[in-house]
Amino acid sequence: MTLAPTRIEATPERAPDMRLYESLVARVSRPARYSGGELHSVTKAWDAHEVRVALAYPDLYDLGMANLGLMILYDIVNRRDDALAERVFSPWTDLEALLREHGEPLRSLETRHAVRDFDVLGVTLQYEACYTNVLNLLDLGGIAVRTADRAPEDTIVIAGGSGALSPEPLAPFIDAFVLGEGEEVMREVVDVVRAWKRDREAGGLPRIELHRRLAGVPGVYVPSVYAVDYHEDGRVREVRPLDGAAPGRVTRRVVESLEPPLTKPIVPFMEVVHDRATIEIQRGCTQGCRFCQAGMIYRPTRERSVDEVVRAAGELLDNTGYDELSLMSLSTTDHREIVPMVNALMDAYGDRGLKISIPSTRVDSFSVEVADAVARGKKHTLTLAPEAGSQRLRNTINKLVSEENILTAAENAFSNGWTSVKMYFMVGQPTETDFDVEEIVRVASAVKQIGRQHIGGRARVRVSTSNFIPKAHTPYQWVGQADPATLRRRHQILREGCRRAGVQFTWEEPEKSLLEAVLSRGDRRVAEVIESAWRGGAKFDSWSEHHDWSVWQASFEEHGVDPAFYAYRTRDLWETLPWAHIHGGTEPSYLRGEWMKTLNEEITLDCKRDPCNVCGMQTLDGDCRHKIAELVQMKVDGDSTQKERLMQERERLMMLPVISAP
Ligand code: SF4
Repeated sequence: MTLAPTRIEATPERAPDMRLYESLVARVSRPARYSGGELHSVTKAWDAHEVRVALAYPDLYDLGMANLGLMILYDIVNRRDDALAERVFSPWTDLEALLREHGEPLRSLETRHAVRDFDVLGVTLQYEACYTNVLNLLDLGGIAVRTADRAPEDTIVIAGGSGALSPEPLAPFIDAFVLGEGEEVMREVVDVVRAWKRDREAGGLPRIELHRRLAGVPGVYVPSVYAVDYHEDGRVREVRPLDGAAPGRVTRRVVESLEPPLTKPIVPFMEVVHDRATIEIQRGCTQGCRFCQAGMIYRPTRERSVDEVVRAAGELLDNTGYDELSLMSLSTTDHREIVPMVNALMDAYGDRGLKISIPSTRVDSFSVEVADAVARGKKHTLTLAPEAGSQRLRNTINKLVSEENILTAAENAFSNGWTSVKMYFMVGQPTETDFDVEEIVRVASAVKQIGRQHIGGRARVRVSTSNFIPKAHTPYQWVGQADPATLRRRHQILREGCRRAGVQFTWEEPEKSLLEAVLSRGDRRVAEVIESAWRGGAKFDSWSEHHDWSVWQASFEEHGVDPAFYAYRTRDLWETLPWAHIHGGTEPSYLRGEWMKTLNEEITLDCKRDPCNVCGMQTLDGDCRHKIAELVQMKVDGDSTQKERLMQERERLMMLPVISAP
C-alpha cells in the first residue's frame, strides 16, 4: 500500500496571530476536530493565490467530513493555480465558549486564517436544522451576519446544497445561493470573484456590483437583487427581480456526465461518521417517491460503469488505507449493474479484506441478494424502507413496494443468516389515517413472526419512524403537516402495538418536525425568527440535547410569525410559493399532476426503466431529451409491446388501480 503525503506547499503562510487559537484548541474535547494536517489535506501558500475559499459545513467536523460534496469542491478549487480552498466546521460548545471569552475568531483548519480573511465562504446547507449554526459560524468567523452590513471587500458568503432550493429563510444572510450540482458552477463563481477582486481594487466598486455579476452566472440566485411582495393575508404575491442581471426564474445546474470520482479524499485522524472510503456510483433517483425532495431535485440518474468504479476503488484503497468502501447513491441497489459491480469489487480486492457498505436498500428480494453479496458471511442488520404500512398509502406516496415484497425480503434475510431487520416508516403522510398506522404494526409483527420461525428468540425487528415534512419542489409542497396531537396519537398506536408484538420502536418529537417544516417552506419573514432564535441561544438544532423549542417559540412570538401558517396550512395549488422563482428541475405542472395522482391512488413508474414521465428535466439534461424523443416515437408508432409490458409491470407490483399506459 502506498500512501501519498499530505500536500503542503513550500512556504504555506500560516496566519501570523494564531498562537492563542492553538492554545485554546488544545484545551477542548477532541482537538483533532480543529487540528488539520490530515492525509491529503491541502495547505497552499496563502499569498500566492488570488482567490481564497473557506468551505464550511455548519455542524461538527465529525459529520462534515462525511460530506462528499464538500470534498469534491475542495479538490476542484485546490486544483486551480489561482485559488486555494480550506475547511471550517462549527466548533463544539467548549471551543465556542473559549473563542468568545478571548475574542478570538473561528479559523480554518489548514492555514489557521480567520474565516473573515477569506474571499469566499462556501456553506453547505444539508438540512434546515443547521440554519442557526450558519449564523453562528458567520459571527464566530468575524463576518457580519446580514449581507446588507458587509463592505465591498468583506467575505462573500455563498450557500449550496438542497437548502439552497428553498432559500428565502436565509435570504438576508447569504450573498448568493448556488442551485444544484456544484462542479461546474463552482469554477465559474471563482472566475467571477477573481475578476471582481481585480476590478474592485482598481476602481472601488460597490458590493452590489458583485451581486449583479454573480446573478449573471446560470444557477446562481442572489437575493439582494429580488424583492418579495405579499398579499394582505400573508401569502407571497410575487418575487420580482430588481435588476436586469437577475433572471425571472433561476434554474438549478445539472452536470451532464459525472466527473471522475475523487480518489484522494482527506483521511481524518479521529473517528468520524461514515469512517470509510466512498465512491458515488450513481447520482440522482427517479423512483418518484412523492414525499422525497432528493428524488425530485436530483434528476436524472447518471451511473458510473463497473470498470470505472473498480479502477477508482483500487486507487482509493491505496491512497487512504481504508478497507471499507461505501457505494454511495440515493438508491444504490437501483444501479443497473450493482451485482456485477459488487462481485467485481470483491474479486479484485476481497483478498485484502475489503468490506462493502451500501447505504440505502430497496425493499425486494433483489436487495437482499445484493446485501448477501456485500455481507459475505458477516450479517447482522438488514435495513428496509417501506415508508408506509398499508398498500393504499404506499400507492399514494408512489413507494412501489408490495407487502409480498416486504415479507419475502424478511423471509430471505432471516433464512440466510440475518438476525435483525430495521424498517423505516414515515408518520403523518398526506391522506394517512390511524388505520394506515395500525398497518405498520401488522406488517412489523408479520416480519417478527418470520424471524421467530427461522431463528427463534434471536430475531430482532425495529420500526424507526420519522414525521412527514412537506418539502419544496415535491408533489407535497402544497400540503399541510399533521399537527402534534395527530402525530402523538399515531406514535401512541405504534408504541402500544410494537410493544405487544415484541418490536422495538423509535420516533421523533413533533415540535422538531414543526420547526423543520417552517424552515423548509418559509419565506423571507422567517429570517427574522431564525436570527432572534440564534441570538437567544439556538444552535445545533438537529441535536436533541441542544434543541430548545421554547427559544423558537419566543422568537416566533417576538416577530408575530405564526408557525402554523407555514407548517399546517394547505396551500392552493396555484398559490405563488416562496420558491416560485427557483426552478428545481421538475416543473410545478408535473408536481401538481403527481399530487392529483396521490388523491386518485395512482402510481408513476420509474423513468429509468420505463418511458419518460416528462417531469421538466427534459429541458435541462441531454439524457432526458433522448428519453422524451423515445416516448414521442413510441406514441407515434403506437408501440403495443411496450404498452403490454407496462401493464404487466403494474400488475407485478400489485398496484391498484391500474392506470392507462401512454
Ligand atoms: S425528463 Fe423524463 S427521463 Fe428525465 S428525469 Fe424527468 S421523467 Fe425522467
